[in-house]
Amino acid sequence: MNSVVVNGILSGLKEGNKAFVNGQAVNFEKIHKQRMETAVKGQNPEVVVIGCSDSRVPPELIFSAGIGEMFVIRTAGNLVGQLEMESISYAVDHLGAPVVMILGHSYCGAVKAAKDGSAPYYLKATAETIKAAIGDESDQKNCELKNIDVGVKKLLKNELIKDKVASAELAVIGAYYCLETGTVEFL
Ligand SMILES: [Zn+2]
Repeated sequence: MNSVVVNGILSGLKEGNKAFVNGQAVNFEKIHKQRMETAVKGQNPEVVVIGCSDSRVPPELIFSAGIGEMFVIRTAGNLVGQLEMESISYAVDHLGAPVVMILGHSYCGAVKAAKDGSAPYYLKATAETIKAAIGDESDQKNCELKNIDVGVKKLLKNELIKDKVASAELAVIGAYYCLETGTVEFL
């Protein structure tokens, strides 16, 4: 996948986010068409999104994406473990998605809990994974950015992803969503 294709996908994402921020109406006609087409022809998503489960960060909405456009995996703190890695691998290998995005966000409760050491017992692995990524950083946004960065680096260590990036079939990017403004910053 050459950089022209990736740049085209990125500008599509930026435009979709702009439409969302500007309150542009959702194109249900397009979505209806996509539903019918993908049901018959199968899916061919362009972007794999690893986002936070936070209900305020729904990927398809914030990028004005329809059906069949995004292959989405969500966990608290936008983390990638073994099960998530298998889903990502399926999307990039079997479905041929050319872009993988780790999407972090402001006011991330998982990051805050890991930073403050206030995570409940059932978020133990989540908090430990984030804490390992952020170290002693105390600024919330810096922690969120570090967590995205470490997530991107982790993906790039995966053999399948590494090979696809090396042969320019795949791009792995980080992005940061601001809850108040609705804007996505590409890192
Ligand atoms: Zn979050």
